[in-house]
Amino acid sequence: MPDVETLAARPVQRRRIVVRGVVQGVGFRPFVARAAAELRLSGHCGNDALSVFVEAEGTPADLDELVRRLRDEAPPLSVVVDLHSEVLSPRGGSRFEIVPSRRLPGSRTLVPPDVATCADCLREMADREDRRYRHPFITCTNCGPRFTIIQDLPYDRPATTMASFPLCARCEAEYADPANRRYHAQPISCHDCGPRLWVEADGRRLAHGDDSTLAHVHRVLADGGIVAVKGIGGFHLACDATNPAVVARLRARKHRPDKPFAVMAPDITQIAGFAEVSAAEQAALSRPARPIVLLRRRVPCPLADGVAPGLDEVGAMLAYTPVHHLLFRPVPGASDLPPQALVMTSGNLSGEPLCHTDEDARDRLSGIADVILMHDRAIAVPCDDSVVAVSRETELPVRRSRGYAPLPVVLPDDGPVTLAVGAEIKNTFCLTRQDYAFCSGHLGDMGSLEAQRSFESAVAQLLALHGVTPALVVADDHPGYATHEWAQRYADAAGLPLDTVQHHHAHVASLLAESGRIGTPVVGVAFDGTGYGCDRTVWGGEVLYVGADVTTTVRVGHLEPFLLAGGDHAVRHPFRVALGLLHAAGIEAGDLDLARSCSDRECRAVASQLSTGIGCVATTSVGRLFDGVASLLGVRHHVSYEAQAAVELEALARSATTAVDLPMRVTDGTLCHTELVAALVEGVHAGLPRAGLALGFHRALAAAATELVVRAAHDCEVETVGLTGGVFANRLLLEEMRARLGAAGLLVLTHRRVPANDGGLSLGQAVVGRARAAHRGSTARKARTARTAMTARTGGDA
Ligand SMILES: [Zn+2]
Ligand SMILES: [Zn+2]
Repeated sequence: MPDVETLAARPVQRRRIVVRGVVQGVGFRPFVARAAAELRLSGHCGNDALSVFVEAEGTPADLDELVRRLRDEAPPLSVVVDLHSEVLSPRGGSRFEIVPSRRLPGSRTLVPPDVATCADCLREMADREDRRYRHPFITCTNCGPRFTIIQDLPYDRPATTMASFPLCARCEAEYADPANRRYHAQPISCHDCGPRLWVEADGRRLAHGDDSTLAHVHRVLADGGIVAVKGIGGFHLACDATNPAVVARLRARKHRPDKPFAVMAPDITQIAGFAEVSAAEQAALSRPARPIVLLRRRVPCPLADGVAPGLDEVGAMLAYTPVHHLLFRPVPGASDLPPQALVMTSGNLSGEPLCHTDEDARDRLSGIADVILMHDRAIAVPCDDSVVAVSRETELPVRRSRGYAPLPVVLPDDGPVTLAVGAEIKNTFCLTRQDYAFCSGHLGDMGSLEAQRSFESAVAQLLALHGVTPALVVADDHPGYATHEWAQRYADAAGLPLDTVQHHHAHVASLLAESGRIGTPVVGVAFDGTGYGCDRTVWGGEVLYVGADVTTTVRVGHLEPFLLAGGDHAVRHPFRVALGLLHAAGIEAGDLDLARSCSDRECRAVASQLSTGIGCVATTSVGRLFDGVASLLGVRHHVSYEAQAAVELEALARSATTAVDLPMRVTDGTLCHTELVAALVEGVHAGLPRAGLALGFHRALAAAATELVVRAAHDCEVETVGLTGGVFANRLLLEEMRARLGAAGLLVLTHRRVPANDGGLSLGQAVVGRARAAHRGSTARKARTARTAMTARTGGDA
């Protein structure tokens, strides 16, 4: 029986809880008020510029439960970035209320990302009795476009591209009713007041009205045509993924011979018809961001082979807008059944940025698509689809864009507003404000003028949204990167300092930042294709110690350098890389498959380049090692997209039943490849299974790199190691190394929020740039010494 005394002595506590993140315009305050009422807590909650603040009073257990719910059960569109709680003295009271917002001048809220159509909206869309039956722009408080329609902050309808669609009386009533699920949902509309669809070709409208437009598009798809589809972040090119002829035609028109296409389907059952889907992969596919998820293809597979030639995987995603859902549903009364798996690839020519305006689409996509499915809501910010892979239950970001951008990564401390411009391929940029780092969506390869223009406008847009101007600009060390040149011009024009960061140092810093480990000294493995080294050779197989200050770095290991004949040219022709590896090992190409992949003249030219060193550049790139091994094993000698040979080598290795044992020696901080290459060549000559050799290569590299890292971690007295760089998109290598390093008792950091590839680089640049700026203030001399020490240490390796 509870005695009266304990009840009387029931401890009451008051806590102030501050929740930061995407917590405004997403139904957060009503959620807090509901939870507080259920837990019989008194107090209040409200918005200020950057957070929701809560003061609640009750028993510690009930307050703990409130905190748990704020973290775990927050509304679907909200993103809790961090939650801070402190104990106050009790004040009494019996009610819990929502208090008016407090705005601080000059401060900005966070922009929410775009979210896939929710189950409630889908239900209404399928309900003949609902007034939004088959409405192509149905949304509510919990779903729909956000980032891609926002033109200014604060986020209200007039500041979005929905401003040109005034709400009808019925929508207005829903918007104003706190009990309605569309209360204060900025992008809502209906058949009466919303945007409209039409289909056009050569500037001529072929059908009007939403349903006749969709019926027309279904007929084009069923007849094997290509449709450009205006989405929420840009245009896609769509065609029937099971029709080999149209897939081949799309490849020819897009000038994209091999790079895999993503496939969209209406539900998991359809995806499971062409790919294996684990529970973790299903969870990834179903996230509100609806990323493309890399899945194992079924054998046999109903998809056309041309969707992902030479690969055992396919990138799949679920429909994520009402228009997508309607694309897969027959139009009532129409005869054509739409395909249930559509190629959905970004609407651009290979290498160019995504199309996002109507004029741009008419200009650039008319030669590729037979018709264009248009709508009249403008896209304010282009945003590509995101891509993730699942490795042992963990999601690895491959491309962080729609649904994730522009959510911030939280940094441990405040610092100057910093603009870091990223790398050259798979580019993103990063803007820091206070302790937030905002990474842009995927901008792609910076090689073209179009790409540079879209980079520039994306930078201007993010700066304007946040209402800030940078105090510091950071770029890669590589003077030839378009982003480096742009940063130099930008910094000069604004009278700002330009800082540059070594490529692999930035990779490791990016991993530390996203793991919340800045301040932890680490030995980082940065394996990628190409990065400008401190000694001006091409790095890419680096093991770096990075100190607690993030600015101190020492190269403690690397791949044994070898010569690339033709420098960058070798990237497109892996046989050149293979010849470089053979040259280093003192082996003739002889009757290897690769000798037949090029003309005698070309082969002789490469051989003479390698023996004289003229036209060659030394490299320690592990990405190139993968290319070279792929060519040695006859997988691929010429590529049409970045990392193609390496991706195909990984696929071959995954098909192996047993691995061939191969040697890889570690000497004095160097991963030596000569014995490895000799053993591979011997294996090929002996007729050993190539899949087994490919798997053996992965294992040998993982074992040798682990040995080197374990020794370096011991020497540097660190317990934390990290795996970063584009090569770690290779899940075989990643899993192998994670397991081995973990078994050696080390804490292993891997990427979970930003890509391991160059898409994550800008975050690391920003972090290093800010740390150096902080050091310059206090210990300028120390920082200079650290950088000099790194140069001295690596100088002898060229
Ligand atoms: Zn909804
Ligand atoms: Zn309406």
